[in-house]
Amino acid sequence: MMNRSAQSPQLSFEFFPPRNDEQADVFRRTRDRLAALNPDYMSVTFGAGGSTRSRTRDAVLDIQRETGVPAAPHISCMSEDTDGIRELLDAYLDAGVDRLVVLRGDRPSGGGSGVFDHAIDLVRFVREHYGRRFHIEVACYPEMHPEASSPDADLRHFRDKVEAGADGAITQYFFSFSAWERFMDDCARMNIDIPITPGIMPITNFARLKRFSKMCGADLPKWISKRIRAWEREDDLRSLRAFGEDVVTDLCRRLLDAGAPGIHFYTLNRARATLRLCRNLGLDEQRESAGQRAAS
Ligand code: FAD
Repeated sequence: MMNRSAQSPQLSFEFFPPRNDEQADVFRRTRDRLAALNPDYMSVTFGAGGSTRSRTRDAVLDIQRETGVPAAPHISCMSEDTDGIRELLDAYLDAGVDRLVVLRGDRPSGGGSGVFDHAIDLVRFVREHYGRRFHIEVACYPEMHPEASSPDADLRHFRDKVEAGADGAITQYFFSFSAWERFMDDCARMNIDIPITPGIMPITNFARLKRFSKMCGADLPKWISKRIRAWEREDDLRSLRAFGEDVVTDLCRRLLDAGAPGIHFYTLNRARATLRLCRNLGLDEQRESAGQRAAS
């Protein structure tokens, strides 16, 4: 495995598992373009209700095999039973996968629940059965999880997940630097001392961003949405993308300057916007100079 400079911020990319041949082509191209940046890991999401379990596993194994970049499956409480979870985790260990993103998961639209009620139960389950063989990342929410009764309650639940054995956390995406600052102060107050990596969503498609933000409770500031909406009305995607790139570059720069341990990009299986952000931040040069990974 490659040595990375202690100074270079942690870099990770998130994918969703492709659903058809066309998406698989896009996934492979994006995988290879982003792997060239020598990230610390690339993660693969799990569908609502656990619907993509085998596709997630296939995409994870594909990333490790084809790029040599460590891959991290997202696992969720929405599995049907604990035997199934153990089988999956055993298979991951056999394949050399030792990093997980552990979540409750989004509930399927028709309702239903999983084998555990909350991510903390799954963190405990992994620690109980696998000790410290997996590095565990969990989710956290600078703008509060939409189902939480209050920011303090959400923070306490986050602290409990950390005490149950999480090694690190990735945030839901956000666009407000103040929300991040406040959240980091709150975490310090609660003695939460694991690395918390901001999850960053490139701005490329307003309709999708609006839909996601509504679903996950991320705040889309008015000053951003007003401008983007105007460019969309005029069909001026070029200005929209340039503005999105500017806003997100600035946010990432401020986060890294303020001591964020790195950036986790929600790539949505597209390379272009993420690559441009990495280039603006100088992350591409830092990473590429650490050398190319062997693709074997
Ligand atoms: P939890 O930690 O269980 O928290 C969920 C809610 O319950 C919060 O409001 C919390 O405050 C509350 N809570 C926690 N513990 C308790 C308790 N003991 N008693 C009462 N309330 C409690 N979704 C997917 O389906 N697939 C993915 O691959 C995926 N990847 C993600 C990656 C990241 C980095 C992030 C930030 C989110 C991701 N999500 C994914 C979305 C995530 O599954 C949802 O936000 C989900 O609603 C909550 O997941 P959690 O792990 O934060 O849950």
